[in-house]
Amino acid sequence: MTTPLICRNFIDGQWLNATDNASLVSGNPASKNEVVATFPRSTISDANAAVASARKAYRSWRLVPAPARAEYIQRVGEVLGKYKEELALLISREMGKPLTEARGDVQEGIDCAYYTAGEGRRMFGQTTPSEMPNKFAMTVRMPIGVCALITPWNFPVAIPCWKAMPALVCGNTVILKPAEDTPACATKLVEIFAEAGLPPGVINLLHGLGEEAGKVLVEHSDVDLVSFTGSSETGAFVGATCGRTHKRVCLEMGGKNAQVVMEDADLELAVEGAVWGAFGTAGQRCTATSRLILHRDIKQKFTKMLVERSQKLRLGAGYESDTEIGPIINERQLQRVSKYLDIAREEGAEVLIGGEIATEGELKNGYFFQPTILDNVTPQMRVAQEEIFGPVVALIEVSSFEEAIAILNDTNYGLSSSIYTRDINRAFTAMRDIEAGITYINGPTIGAEVHLPFGGVKQTGNGHREAGSTALDVFTEWKSVYVDFSGSLQRAQIDNRE
Ligand code: ADP
Repeated sequence: MTTPLICRNFIDGQWLNATDNASLVSGNPASKNEVVATFPRSTISDANAAVASARKAYRSWRLVPAPARAEYIQRVGEVLGKYKEELALLISREMGKPLTEARGDVQEGIDCAYYTAGEGRRMFGQTTPSEMPNKFAMTVRMPIGVCALITPWNFPVAIPCWKAMPALVCGNTVILKPAEDTPACATKLVEIFAEAGLPPGVINLLHGLGEEAGKVLVEHSDVDLVSFTGSSETGAFVGATCGRTHKRVCLEMGGKNAQVVMEDADLELAVEGAVWGAFGTAGQRCTATSRLILHRDIKQKFTKMLVERSQKLRLGAGYESDTEIGPIINERQLQRVSKYLDIAREEGAEVLIGGEIATEGELKNGYFFQPTILDNVTPQMRVAQEEIFGPVVALIEVSSFEEAIAILNDTNYGLSSSIYTRDINRAFTAMRDIEAGITYINGPTIGAEVHLPFGGVKQTGNGHREAGSTALDVFTEWKSVYVDFSGSLQRAQIDNRE
């Protein structure tokens, strides 16, 4: 046990408690009784102070040249590198993922910093001819203003970086409202932004409950944009509220991602991909593989290999060196996964392995769920349609490529997808016909890289893409600029038509 960390809000460059000193605690999901951190239960007045701080800082930050803003972000990347190991350990302790994955979480933040810093020297607009003589036309990207960034616990460093870094390079100021389960990771991250020398108020940290601090930001009249990653239920509230209050809004919500394995696939490779995609991060990724769509000719063999591999996975605390699968984030989520197993059994699915809360030895001290494989799943069962967010994968048998793609597409979501095949024609047909924001050929559904767009179709999102240069579209608006150097009034569509 370590002494709990004391986290504070970061407003206008100051580390502050909640105005009424109320606080909450975060824990270690591998050890139920361990408190990792205490953090402020922010009130409306704390949220108002954070918004006012971001608004004030925006006046000057938007005027800092984009390449100079980008240099701050470059430095954030360097400082993140310095603290990579310390931060990875904290992620493992507070969120639960194995250290190798926690290091990846931080590395994604570093990659994002370097990539986004480059955008500070690009952020290209267009020049285009005017239809009038002696007139110049161009487009420029404009910052939007004060951005509220509402983030989940599953990537406590990478997701805030994905949002904050492009927002800041584009000239916005931000208020990060991190998840209640990972306040210490967010605090360390914002300390790193501060150490990189960002001016006061440019990045603010507002801890607290979603329904309190988060909701105030979403409803606040002086917040211009909300970027949200989380559950579909909360996303629906955020989207509706932003619609009503005329805010820009970027939503990234659920997934029900599938990996297809065709009869001509490299089965060893496909099994390896399935194990990583389904059970990596204990299935708690929005891109996790939760359905395996298997051609009937290889289903039996594939399933046998998958079961053998999955049975050997070692559960444990993320910071123990031999752990392959960490805990579920909290009791509520553990019970939710467990409830889906009851539903699966009622619906007639067969539990091939797992299916229970893991309680052997030390595991009973944490929130562990056994890696679970469900067989005899039909496409319309709830376990084949609803996001479970745990180490649970459903096997669905198909007899053709066309049927596989139809079943893959038959969900409300459309984030990630994968197909294993050696047939180039099928691979390209899949790339065209799969309804998802991300498609992997001969790779698992997880593994996004920061310089490519990230997001999904249908109910996964609202049409935006994070990361890549597409992040600029979230955090800027276009301005069209016309410069008339003719010295006379020129009426477009009129004077050049006479
Ligand atoms: P999960 O169920 O995975 O925790 P949530 O959607 O509840 O996902 O949480 C994602 C983020 O949204 C967290 O930072 C949480 O505090 C925040 N949040 C939850 N409810 C609201 C709300 N009503 N308004 C704004 N933010 C919220």
